[in-house]
Amino acid sequence: MKIAIIGAGAMGSRFGYMLQEAGNNVFLVDTWKQHVEIINKDGLLVDDNDTLKTIKIPIFFPEEVNEIPDLIILFTKSMGLKPMLKSIEKIIGKNTQVLCLLNGLGHSDTIAEFVNKKNILMGVTLWTSELVAPGHIKLTGSGNVEIQSLDPNMEHAAEKICQIFNKASLNAIHSKNVILSIWKKACINGALNCTCTILNCNIEEFGQLKNSRNIITNIIQEFSEIANKQEVDLKVDEIISNVEQTYDPDEAGEHFPSMHQDLIQNHRLTEIDYINGYISKKGKEFNISTPYNDLLTMLIHSKEELLIKK
Ligand code: NAD
Repeated sequence: MKIAIIGAGAMGSRFGYMLQEAGNNVFLVDTWKQHVEIINKDGLLVDDNDTLKTIKIPIFFPEEVNEIPDLIILFTKSMGLKPMLKSIEKIIGKNTQVLCLLNGLGHSDTIAEFVNKKNILMGVTLWTSELVAPGHIKLTGSGNVEIQSLDPNMEHAAEKICQIFNKASLNAIHSKNVILSIWKKACINGALNCTCTILNCNIEEFGQLKNSRNIITNIIQEFSEIANKQEVDLKVDEIISNVEQTYDPDEAGEHFPSMHQDLIQNHRLTEIDYINGYISKKGKEFNISTPYNDLLTMLIHSKEELLIKK
């Protein structure tokens, strides 16, 4: 299968590497000049659970690509999704399947501006990856990926992609309700990413705070109200328990969430508008009050203003 990975950072490079190793015809697309040039010249350096390998994998800038693939996997950060889709519109064929694996909410509406709904697949993944330097990724642990077609008549397409992913050991599950899984992950991110970022603490430290239960309950309740309005049944108690499980140092406790890594450690823009900011935006549209997510979104944007030089 010819597979294009659009957004070849930490996650896109991981999926590209695993799918190519399994015999697929893969190419990467990215806008980051230094990263693209290093991979073209020296190959992609992969630290795969402490084994170092250099792999040759084709990588292009969006303006260079002209081959129409069977499958496009979207892996930019959320704020890069729309510009990226615009820049690769010419390689979205009438039968090209387009799979979104970004974190966050609201992406299917953006993709539908460029892709026929019958070809859109949504997914969510528990795989992780770290970008150590341009052209260099570090892979640890294992994960899985849930996939479902937006169009119920296209479930055979999701099934086929799951088979291809499983040949690459990506542990794919053909989901019956991927939208619920996407909401659950976004809600856990919504409870922990912005709070640990604003408080400058890791997940375990956050969990030990006297007010942590109170803070996450209020955030999650607002997520649940917006989800319900979109016919997604997000159970507040279940999500609170999922969040609290991550406080354990044997789970994610020792980690700083990705938003902390982006903003505090690397002074990069965050995906806040597609997590808490999405709740805040939809709250206004639906006339539902979302004061906790409104404030958290404003605080993260304010921290972006303070830390990121124009
Ligand atoms: P990243 O920043 O490492 O990679 C994103 C890449 O997209 C960058 O290389 C960037 O240059 C590229 N890009 C930006 N605009 C582009 C455009 N217009 N065209 C082509 N490429 C463009 O991010 P990541 O960590 O790989 O995360 C990608 C998504 O996956 C995010 O939504 C993230 O939340 C989610 N996610 C990440 C992890 C993880 O462990 N890193 C785990 C699960 C989900």
